Amino acid sequence: MTVTGSTIPTSPPPSLLAPSPLAPSPLADILAAANRDLEAAEPVEIIRWGVERFGDKLTMATAFGPEGCVIIHHLAAIAPKTFVFNLETGYQFPETLLLRERIARRYGIEVSLEKPETTVSQYEALHGGPLHGRDPDRCCADRKIAVVRRVLTRFDAWMSGIRRDQSPDRAAAPVVGWDAKFGVVKISPLANWTKAMIWDLVVREDIPYNPLHDQGYVSIGCAPCTRALVIGEDERAGRWSGSVKTECGLHSRTH
Ligand code: SF4
Repeated sequence: MTVTGSTIPTSPPPSLLAPSPLAPSPLADILAAANRDLEAAEPVEIIRWGVERFGDKLTMATAFGPEGCVIIHHLAAIAPKTFVFNLETGYQFPETLLLRERIARRYGIEVSLEKPETTVSQYEALHGGPLHGRDPDRCCADRKIAVVRRVLTRFDAWMSGIRRDQSPDRAAAPVVGWDAKFGVVKISPLANWTKAMIWDLVVREDIPYNPLHDQGYVSIGCAPCTRALVIGEDERAGRWSGSVKTECGLHSRTH
């Protein structure tokens, strides 16, 4: 894999996969240096670094949360041709899909809807009904993880809108790091931002957002696995409510 000014090996660097006595690989060095340099950088600088480093081998995934909309807002000014995709599981809210249209009108960025191999009806027929209630890990693996894996084979780096303060699972997310799960570099321009900072920018710049946020939904994913919050609940409590599951697996190292 070649990036501006550097040649990066495609195999995962052991020093980023797990603590290792081995000397850091060139990729590990590059990523560690970038991480140090960008730790206190503004999201726009981090996005610009990703664009300059990876060019058209950089992609971005979004579920159209306010964080993703903020990154798209910046990408529109920096590199509007960047391939941006959404995991269209077939279970998303209509409001989420309409937001895709509003983003396209506002920024000219057509977010690609990346779908699983089967439609919802085919999938449910195969499994004797929906799996999201009985086996959400399997459902997420089939309808999200497998799709991301397929898309990322075409890229060297991906960007996402995760924030460290969203959950314990995300608290250690580096700004730039090796994503061993998908075998690409992962860039999190908003890792250091808070929810308040995101919403401040959304309001100030009139960035389009999902209207469900005005109805008590905070973190929005697939409709069957998302509910509105009541006052005092953790921001991700509305996802897979009633189960121990807290992540679809895209951003965690454990599943
Ligand atoms: S969030 Fe729910 S419906 Fe969506 S893929 Fe995961 S389990 Fe299935």
